[in-house]
Amino acid sequence: MLDAAQCGNYALASINITSSNTASAALAAFAETKTDGILQISTGGGEAFSGPAKDSALGAIALAEYIHRIADRLDIYAAITTDHCVPGKVDKFLRPLIAEAKRRDSAGLGNLFNGHMFDGSELPMDKNMEISRELLSEMAPLGLILEVEVGVVGGEEDGIDNTGAEHHKLYTTPEDMVYVYEQLKGLGRFTLAATFGNVHGVYKPGNVKLKPSILLEGNGAVVAKYGEQAKLDLVFHGGSGSTIEEIHETLGYGVVKMNVDTDCQYAFTRPIADHMMKNYDGVLRIDGEMGDKKTYDPRAYLKKAETGMKARVVQASSELCSLGKSIYGA
Ligand SMILES: [Zn+2]
Repeated sequence: MLDAAQCGNYALASINITSSNTASAALAAFAETKTDGILQISTGGGEAFSGPAKDSALGAIALAEYIHRIADRLDIYAAITTDHCVPGKVDKFLRPLIAEAKRRDSAGLGNLFNGHMFDGSELPMDKNMEISRELLSEMAPLGLILEVEVGVVGGEEDGIDNTGAEHHKLYTTPEDMVYVYEQLKGLGRFTLAATFGNVHGVYKPGNVKLKPSILLEGNGAVVAKYGEQAKLDLVFHGGSGSTIEEIHETLGYGVVKMNVDTDCQYAFTRPIADHMMKNYDGVLRIDGEMGDKKTYDPRAYLKKAETGMKARVVQASSELCSLGKSIYGA
């Protein structure tokens, strides 16, 4: 999927999911449009899905198993990965997930996940890469891809708050990107979230200064030194709220995956707000009345929520030029 995207100058929409409903919305969007895409689970998303077990790794495994059972019936590829595991959560999240991959491997079962993300951007670069090297060396023999991050994605997401980050850290340098390549080359497949002013969340127009040319310069430096086959597979974090011009510009510079979380959260919740406001007398039991079971059955508004989010996922795939380009069966 990554190779096809890199060669075809398009990117895969990577959608944050936290429940069976949000997973269904993303899978429906991909399946109905013959589009390949990625579903990603953060540490917080894993914990939310684990319910009373309160175990982020267990929740991520359970949600991935659910996705496999449903996606088996669909004629597209849906990859599953994890999102933003910070150094402090490696032992509780990434380690158990890698252990599960080893357990499945010895049992002759396929992988549940296609890859994992280690976000060591809060660490000094050499320490970040030291841990990234260690994880990739362990993951690559299991067929897992590692997503790493350098620089800082601004804004706030899933409890990671970088709203006060120093300005220069929001922009990765070409030297940083060459360094990442040199540190990880030969160990296994990896993708890089290099920052170019991107932020998590959505902001009013004008508040975010994206500089996609950073990616062009960085990948240019890597290719100049190590040749075309060294071109990095880049990940665009904080895709919500970006203009179509900004998105298209990144595609030629090596971006193969764009994460969309915030806009999908809104697209899921917006129809629920509409449903509640329009059916106020039905969803509530007011003044001794019994309400309307048809409107307070959770399926009634969750179906609308899935439809709303599905449309946003289709929009993301369309903006990333991956719509309808599934390589399933090719
Ligand atoms: Zn991110």
